[in-house]
Amino acid sequence: MPIDYFVWLIAGGSEAILVDAGYTPEVAEQRGNRIHLGSPIEACAALGYPPKSIKSLVITHAHYDHTGYLHELPSARIHLQERELAFWTGRHAHRAMYRSIVDQGDVLELVRRNFAGSVDLIDGDADIAPGVSVHLVGGHTAGMQVVRVDVEGQLIVLASDASHFYENVEADKPFSITHSTPGMFDAFDRSRELASSRDSVGLIIPGHDPGVRARFPDVGAAIGIESRVWQIA
Ligand SMILES: [Zn+2]
Repeated sequence: MPIDYFVWLIAGGSEAILVDAGYTPEVAEQRGNRIHLGSPIEACAALGYPPKSIKSLVITHAHYDHTGYLHELPSARIHLQERELAFWTGRHAHRAMYRSIVDQGDVLELVRRNFAGSVDLIDGDADIAPGVSVHLVGGHTAGMQVVRVDVEGQLIVLASDASHFYENVEADKPFSITHSTPGMFDAFDRSRELASSRDSVGLIIPGHDPGVRARFPDVGAAIGIESRVWQIA
């Protein structure tokens, strides 16, 4: 199954929140068999949001493909679930199946930023800006979180790897990499609940589905980076 890697920018006014930090060309080369299209930080800058305007960075979970450009946002406040950092600094982290799926330098950077006081370690749900909240769902990793954005009443859930593909959440089929398989089902339920309001069911955006590119407009051409930027709302 082809797989895409997304980061999302939540922009309003002159400030923005970045959801996840992709992976670098160095990591793509180390892991092989991965195409690196370009820096998401450069894409944000092309959209009018240079690094200094990105005040917050949500790390949905600490797998390597979500933490890569952390070091290029040294002054962003990081929003991470407490149990995610606890897991990657805990007694199971050295097991090959776990340690192979994170970039150890990025995990160390998260620890360093926490010592510097620039990480909000969340336990459960938190509002991080007007209309933007994060929610612990677990399942894929110990502290997997999703992001909900209220865009003028339309509820958008950035599911990240709580649902890699549309099919995971739509057909109730968990992805194969799991911390807890029953937890993946609970994460589907929670994502659906978060996307629903009294009168509508909003959008759940999966973390790695190439179908996302077919459902939303490519807005990169106007800024010279065609096929790199899709606008959800
Ligand atoms: Zn991922």
